[in-house]
Amino acid sequence: MYNIMTPGPTKVRENVRMARSLETTNPDLDESFYEDYRAVCKQISRLMHTKNETYLLSGEGILGLEAACASLTEQRDRVLIIDNGIFGKGFKEFVELYGGKPVVYTCDYHTPVNEKELETYLEKDHDFVYATLVHCDTPSGVLNDLSALCPLLKKYGILTVVDSVAGMFGEVVNVDQSQIDILCGGSQKVLSAPAGMTFVTVSDDAKKRMRYRTQPIASFYCNLQNFEGYYEKKWFPYTMPISDIYGVKVALENVEQDKNIIKRHQKIARATREAIKEAGLQLYLKDGYASTVTVFYVPDGMLDTEIIEYMKKNYNILIAGCFDALAGKVLRIGHMGENANQKDVADTLYALSKTLNALGYRLPCDMKESFKKHLNES
Ligand SMILES: *Cc1c(COP(=O)(O)O)cnc(C)c1O
Repeated sequence: MYNIMTPGPTKVRENVRMARSLETTNPDLDESFYEDYRAVCKQISRLMHTKNETYLLSGEGILGLEAACASLTEQRDRVLIIDNGIFGKGFKEFVELYGGKPVVYTCDYHTPVNEKELETYLEKDHDFVYATLVHCDTPSGVLNDLSALCPLLKKYGILTVVDSVAGMFGEVVNVDQSQIDILCGGSQKVLSAPAGMTFVTVSDDAKKRMRYRTQPIASFYCNLQNFEGYYEKKWFPYTMPISDIYGVKVALENVEQDKNIIKRHQKIARATREAIKEAGLQLYLKDGYASTVTVFYVPDGMLDTEIIEYMKKNYNILIAGCFDALAGKVLRIGHMGENANQKDVADTLYALSKTLNALGYRLPCDMKESFKKHLNES
């Protein structure tokens, strides 16, 4: 198996793997499971600093994004798609699928969404039911400022759907302060549980919106309203994947016990960027770097695939290329969750240095040494 230094899925710690192998009960009929489920949901709400209720859904991160759109969109609703990255733009399709009218607000992919510019735009047009926004857009690694953008949207009466799948737990998220209506997360990024679970925190405003819809939600699996009152009713819309939830529970405990988690992500990300720059490679972003992933251009005259393959074959380390508009253009090192540790990142940068040298790109420095030097500075 490769050492997976990708921006998710990440490595899974042994205690999480063991939790997934525990004996199970009937999660529909055994009332004790409703207690366990609710405790996990509450733990997520606590970590996200919110009084809002959390639901865990059985499906990978994309399910949460689609469920948020399915549950909020009515026919011909205008929805603002804030697009400064590939995942950001991707929300358009979900809105269309459920009959909404997406209005795409596209900005520079190399920097975070500018609050002032968005405000200028909203002054002229703010007739939107909700807006979608990505916290950390993983293909470019850009980090948007939820604490500035979401309250601004709310000021205009616009609900917010935020994809923090690749941000939460590695970046600060404060749902209540930022007034986020639906926050979406996934199990396989910073949380470092296997892929397969998504979670959403849902505000009272979002719940009201769902309750007072005039048309039914055009989905069963993506219908967040189906989860309302599950605890009182002792009823889930479908049988919950109990082993996945046991895994998520322990992964959350790992995160909660790791008091330094955000600082460590910042420190590792900063040192990684410095090493990349000192090696003469070019970062994709101008500013607004997330702490969970580092994205840099493939050096001129080289192929992303040859670099990735060489690292796999000779160093057993897997880094990621990209897709869509950035396919073939950039490489990505994920340093999130279990991967955000000095040894793995140093090994990755060592392997990358050796690989680039072997493929004919002369590095002015050893990226591993440079990484270590910058780690000690901060
Ligand atoms: C990983 C990720 C998701 C989940 O999507 P997959 O491509 O299926 O892993 C959603 N949003 C963001 C920003 C992500 O990084």
